[in-house]
Amino acid sequence: MVQGGGAALHMAHLVTGGQPESSPAGPADDLPRHDDFDVVTRAIELLSLLAACLLLAWQLPRLAQHGALTAWWTLPLALLAVLAADFISGLVHWFADTWFDESVPVLGPRFLRPFRVHHVNPETFLTRDFVDTNGDVAMLTIPFLLLVFGLPLETAWGQAAGLFLVALSAAALPTNQVHQWAHMARPPRWVAWLQYWGLILSGNAHRRHHEPPHVANYCIATGWCNPVLSAVDFFPRLERLVTRLTGLQPRQDDQQYLERFASAEEERA
Ligand SMILES: [Zn+2]
Ligand SMILES: [Zn+2]
Repeated sequence: MVQGGGAALHMAHLVTGGQPESSPAGPADDLPRHDDFDVVTRAIELLSLLAACLLLAWQLPRLAQHGALTAWWTLPLALLAVLAADFISGLVHWFADTWFDESVPVLGPRFLRPFRVHHVNPETFLTRDFVDTNGDVAMLTIPFLLLVFGLPLETAWGQAAGLFLVALSAAALPTNQVHQWAHMARPPRWVAWLQYWGLILSGNAHRRHHEPPHVANYCIATGWCNPVLSAVDFFPRLERLVTRLTGLQPRQDDQQYLERFASAEEERA
């Protein structure tokens, strides 16, 4: 069982001292690790990062030119976009943790496997460099930033929609970096300050997600949506709806991962 003694011991070993920490050697050596991607994938990740930053730098003056950065609704709408970015980070994370397995073509090895690996070996996330950590999210923000070119910024609704999309993209862009910082025992001082004041996801808030069966605190951008979604039982309700509509059972693959590596550790003990 996932919540059984072996798995619980195993996860306690992985998530140590309040925050997951890196260890130089030991049982974690036998656990699955983050895959190294080929040079083409890395080039795409780097180009995605550059394109997303360039598009952000392009769209901000366009919004300013049309008064969208100084309107009375600018701040509340930007905050709403930050909340939306956090909510979307939770939805994407929940989807990847909960459904299908790594045998799904393209999506499986590229998108689902990293989430499975992350639950059984969170430490390996700390070995990913800046481009590898942030490239995929940058790629996802590009369509939203391109969409702003199609909006009529001379109209009020065009300005509001443009501001929302740019703020959403800006808040979403560092999501995986924020996630990686939440795994660091000693993040940079300015990051720790942001975490302390709840402006980005903290290690303590994210630690709850890493307690089996990994069903709490899916949101990993600011983490602001987590308490509300937990209070209304949002993801369990959504899972029951998906199961009723499709017959799919949640976390089957994730549970197999946990059981496989928990039993491997029991054999070593
Ligand atoms: Zn997860
Ligand atoms: Zn994590």
